[in-house]
Parts: sequence; structure tokens; C-alpha cells
Amino acid sequence: MNKINGNGHDRRTFLKKGALFTTILGSGLWSSTGCGIGSNEGDSRNIIFLVSDGMSSGTLTMADVMLRRRDGRTSNWLRLYEEGRVQRALMDMASANRIVTCSAAASSSWGCGHRVNNGVVNVGPDGEEYPPILSIMRDSGKSTGLVTTTRITHATPAGFAANVEARGLEDEIAVQYLDRKVDVLLGGGNRHYDPEQREDGRDLYSEYRAAGYHVARHKTELSWRGAPTDRLLGIFAGSHLPFTLDHMNAPDLREKVPTLAEMTDIALQKLSKNPNGFIIQIEGGRVDHAAHGNDLGGLIYDQIAFDETIGVVLDFVENRNDTLVIITTDHGNANPGFNSSPDAGFDRIQRFRHTSSWIQSELDHQSTIAQIRDRVYAATGLEITRDEAEVYLQAVRGTYAPVYRRMSGRSSALGQILANYTHVNWVGGSHTADYVELCSFGPGSEALKGFVMNTALFNVMTKAAGVYEMEMRL
Ligand SMILES: [Zn+2]
Repeated sequence: MNKINGNGHDRRTFLKKGALFTTILGSGLWSSTGCGIGSNEGDSRNIIFLVSDGMSSGTLTMADVMLRRRDGRTSNWLRLYEEGRVQRALMDMASANRIVTCSAAASSSWGCGHRVNNGVVNVGPDGEEYPPILSIMRDSGKSTGLVTTTRITHATPAGFAANVEARGLEDEIAVQYLDRKVDVLLGGGNRHYDPEQREDGRDLYSEYRAAGYHVARHKTELSWRGAPTDRLLGIFAGSHLPFTLDHMNAPDLREKVPTLAEMTDIALQKLSKNPNGFIIQIEGGRVDHAAHGNDLGGLIYDQIAFDETIGVVLDFVENRNDTLVIITTDHGNANPGFNSSPDAGFDRIQRFRHTSSWIQSELDHQSTIAQIRDRVYAATGLEITRDEAEVYLQAVRGTYAPVYRRMSGRSSALGQILANYTHVNWVGGSHTADYVELCSFGPGSEALKGFVMNTALFNVMTKAAGVYEMEMRL
């Protein structure tokens, strides 16, 4: 496959520069001496990229309103807007082949500067493999990291570090992270590391250890005590990490699984030991899953957990002027909104103890009306009617027929039932075309205002880190 570097805005010029750039980087001279990017870097030593996956504007709004009403404080994200210290823009996230992107194409657009087809990670329509930004930054001497609440091999983290023709090739993505020496990897996804579950039977934990990684499988093992050059792999679930609301209310999960904020704190401590700086992508990945499932408790509490992670990043960058911070989402999802009604409906979310996912985990087509009502009550404190429980049962059995057919699934039925009490409802159960929020500050962020293309973020990050300047000097 062809290796093409760059953003495609000026294909001819960039190909020329890119070829030379790749050759020089491949020599290994810069990273070993630190004289390359270290002496020619842009103003941004560090890049912190935060993405709340599948966050509609209504999700951002409702998490903020919830914090104001429950805790009497503004969310960190909205406080940045209130204080006017940041750039704010809308971003067009379309992929190469669809108005509505998926996470693979979205993260690739930021990670390699090209729009690719949905479902693809950093590979062009003719099989071109575009160098991902973590490899580019690694070769310039920076440390690299990925932190997520999904499987670490999921599409959004992969978009900054991998090249695969289909996002589902997660066994392969786990190998690429090792080959490409991503320094810090924290999230879920044991099934792609465990030799018993990998198709090729490789024991990736052993291979990572042999390559100098400290491996953590439990929250207590996360504290990182190795030398600055050591790498860190933390895998805390078979697949995705639990939803925040379920995690909060299950002592065993709280003991074993770290929060996104806790993982981010450890990652920043580790990566910031490199005097040449670092790049990290931090994903609140399950906001998207909750939206797909019309799961209001899952959605709001995971968005709040993401916001707490913004707080960790704000503490890290306080009194620093060498760090570009980007906070965004890759697409809307299900576009939830609080419909005009008494505020008490919205405040009912504060009493939720478990997600809709938790509710449904023990219900099936044989469940009784009483069992359904009890389970919903245990999770939400809401006493749904017998008729509503019957509608849910119809959805489980495949006989529920709403006017908009895409809302006929059991998750959508439950989401609409809960909406009768919270007055938060959904437009569907999939990604949406909305232009997305883009918040940024630090060196290089000046360009990110107004209305921008997704691919612009790759240009801004590489320029801020001085990579483009190096190319120009060559
Ligand atoms: Zn999604």
C-alpha cells in the first residue's frame, strides 16, 4: 500500500514533502537525539485531545443543567465558554462517503487529515495507508497515549494510531499499538489481548511486557511506578468499561475499574515525564453507546464523567502555555432533548441508580409485567404503568409497531416509556448529521473558530507541534 502523509489540501506539494518527511523520520535520528522536533517545535509541547463520543448538543446541555440544579455548579465545558478563554466552533464531521460519519471515519479525519469511508481506519479508497498522528508525533520524539471507556481497540482510539480496512479488525489493532509503541493505553478490551480469545492465539500481554510495558488489569495495579521510558497497558474489562451510573452503584466495579478521570490523571503523569512533550487522545466512549440505546441514565452520567475528566486536564494545564487542548465530539447521536414541561421531570434523573442497559440485562420475552415494573423501579425510582410495561414486552417480542419504525426496538420502547416521566425523548437510535461543538485553547487553537472541517484538526495539531515547520525546513 502507498504511504501518504498529509492533509490533502495541496496534494502535489504535500506528497513531495511527505515522501521526504517519511524518509527522514524513518531514520530514527530525530527521536533518539531529540534535536529534530525538540529544537524546531512549534509552541505546543503537548496536545490533549478529548472526545465525548456521540455527544449531541442536547447531551452537553442536559449534563450542564443537571450539574447546575443538583450541585449548584456549571460543567467544566460550559465554564470554559462562560469565561471566554477558549475558541469555539462548529465542525462538519462528514466522512468520505456519508453525510453521517461513524467513529472510525471521524477519528481518522482528525488522526490523518483525510476523510475516509465509514468503517475504515486511516486507509484511503485505493488502499493508501495514511500515517496516523500518534506515529508522526512518536517519530518527532513525543510520548503518545490513548485512554478510553470503550475497548482500547475501538474505532475512536484506533483512529489516532492504527491503519485497518475495517474497524472490526480489533485483534490487529492491538498488535499495531504494540508495533507502533504507543506509550500509554488505558481502557477495556481484554478479548483482543487474551490468547484464549484472540483468533491467532497470541498472548499479547506477554508480548507487551517483553516490550517494556507495565500491564495493569485491576485499578490497584494502575499506579505507575516504572522508569520514565516504561510503557503502560491497562485493560480493565473484557469489552467496554461499565457505564458510569452502574459503576457508581456497584462496589465491586468501583474497586476494580478506574474512572475515565482517574485513568487520565495517571496517563498525564506518565506522559508528561517526556521533556519533548506528548500527545494523548481521551475518549468518553460510552456516551455514544447510551445514546444508541436511548439510555438516559447512561448518557447523562457518562457525560458528567467526561466533564470531570476535562477538570483533570484543566488542573494539568493550569499555569502552562505549552499545551494545545481540543474538546469535541465525533457526531451527534439520537439527539435527545428535554421537552417543555415542569422541571421536576428533568430532576427525576437525579434519582436514577442504574442504566436502561442494566434494566434490560435481566429482562426477556418471558418476563412478567410485574418483573418489568419492579426492575424499572429499582433502577430509576419510576413507577411505570402496566400498559407501558406491556409495550416494552411487545418490543422484546418484536410486535411493537411505532409510526417511526426505527424506534421499534426494546431500547427505544423503554427510552420512550421513561420519557413519559422525565420528558427527555430521542429522535432515533443512531448517529446524526449535526455539526458538532468544537472547543479549544492553547497554542494553535486560534485557527479553530467559526466553522471548520474535521480534517483541519490534523493540520492544527501537526502545525502546533512543529511538524509542518520541520517539513518546510527540509
Ligand atoms: Zn456509535
